[in-house]
Amino acid sequence: MSEQLGTQQRPLRVAVVGAGPSGFYAAEALFTSEMTVKVDMFDRLPSPFGLVRYGVAPDHYKIKNVIKIYEKIAARENFSFLGNVKVGKDISAAELQTYYDAVIFSCGSEKEKTLGIPGEDLAGSYAASEFVWWYNGHPDCVNNKFDLSKEIAVVIGQGNVALDVARILCKTVDELKMTDITQAALDALAQSKVREVHLIGRRGPAQTAFTPVEIREFGALAECDVVVNPDELVLNDASKTELADPRNAPKKKNYDILGGFARMPIGKKRKRLIIHFYESPRELKGSGAVEKLVLEKNELSGEPGKQKAKGTGKLKEMNCGVFFRSVGYRGAPIPGVPFREDWAVLPNEGGRITDNGKPLSGLYCAGWIKRGPSGIIGTNKPCSQETAQNLLADVPNLPPCPQPDTNKVIEFLTKKGIKVVSFKDWQKIDAAEIARGAKVGKPREKFLLVSEMLSVV
Ligand code: NAP
Repeated sequence: MSEQLGTQQRPLRVAVVGAGPSGFYAAEALFTSEMTVKVDMFDRLPSPFGLVRYGVAPDHYKIKNVIKIYEKIAARENFSFLGNVKVGKDISAAELQTYYDAVIFSCGSEKEKTLGIPGEDLAGSYAASEFVWWYNGHPDCVNNKFDLSKEIAVVIGQGNVALDVARILCKTVDELKMTDITQAALDALAQSKVREVHLIGRRGPAQTAFTPVEIREFGALAECDVVVNPDELVLNDASKTELADPRNAPKKKNYDILGGFARMPIGKKRKRLIIHFYESPRELKGSGAVEKLVLEKNELSGEPGKQKAKGTGKLKEMNCGVFFRSVGYRGAPIPGVPFREDWAVLPNEGGRITDNGKPLSGLYCAGWIKRGPSGIIGTNKPCSQETAQNLLADVPNLPPCPQPDTNKVIEFLTKKGIKVVSFKDWQKIDAAEIARGAKVGKPREKFLLVSEMLSVV
């Protein structure tokens, strides 16, 4: 007779792959079950917290307080962190199923969408995600160089990531130096010659994807004026209908804030954020590096709520010294796990990973890799809860894994030469970073290399 999973004698063993918000919320939801559950959380980096550490902008430090909740989850007796382990490379999904009854992939969407326009590969054209990882000290981007030696920067897209990039470019060093931005990024930004940042949306001011708090913040920057052309705030009937819908209250707030910016006389601050609507990038030009951007004027067509940008054929060319595309992220496939190329997510029903529509035994997903890259940190909580509930409901049908032992996983990885980082190890890294930061009046100075982190443990 097979063992009963979820008992004290034989706890349900779940591997959570990805130590970001959705992973922690999944662990939290599993721990609220009456079953005895053991969660081992993997991350390819020695540090946990994913997007909170490497995605949230350094000047939005209050958002990072959510880490305290994750630390409480990590302190639970039945929780282990196995950092510095890349699932799909160091251990395969199938090998994980040897040690765990169920696996939840909560590894986010790490790739950035491209625009597919000529010149996109020119020097000086960057993915916003790389810039974000760079100023946040992500080990994958420490060696990236961003040429900020020209006056005009363009950011394509009007989501919160685009605003983060624009704000970091528009803030003064004084506004950033007390944050956990890396010293390397701060030094590079201190040398930045960028004076004009153009934030370009393909649709109109009623369709912005950012949130009101984030756009309002631009009105209070020390050395940056905001410019909005009042003519671009004139709405068609469909957009008026959209904004009248109470479900679009945040977009209506955005619209009102933009109206406030448009009414303000243009000031004389050192930098300027210029917000454009109804324009799509069509080509980047330059000999060797980006010099010009060709934009096409759009108009909207479609029913309220479904309006799309349609090119009018009217082109214009503008100077552009540095270019960032911030048009959303894409999930990356995990070897041995089905992947939905068109949506760049793991195919799933309520978090149960499916293959040709049929749920695969013991495989689940949560967060951006489940539903796509949308929503704020808190949006992941109900998403992960749904996955955890479905997993728990499946327990009577889950075949127990053959080797229910975390030490055996660690042994397997150690034999391959991998230094598995525990939560205690991470706490040493954390303390060392905080101590480095304290010397210069910052909340922390992050280690930029995995080897530096490992040398602390
Ligand atoms: P996003 O919110 O989906 O915004 C993507 C933007 O790119 C939209 O303005 C979209 O316009 C535009 N876009 C897409 N394809 C385009 C194309 N081919 N040409 C021109 N524009 C294009 O994505 P995100 O900014 O990467 O943010 C991801 C998620 O993280 C969001 O839910 C965001 O709110 C969240 N986030 C939150 C915070 C925060 O709370 N402070 C910070 C960062 C990120 P259309 O609307 O026309 O498609």
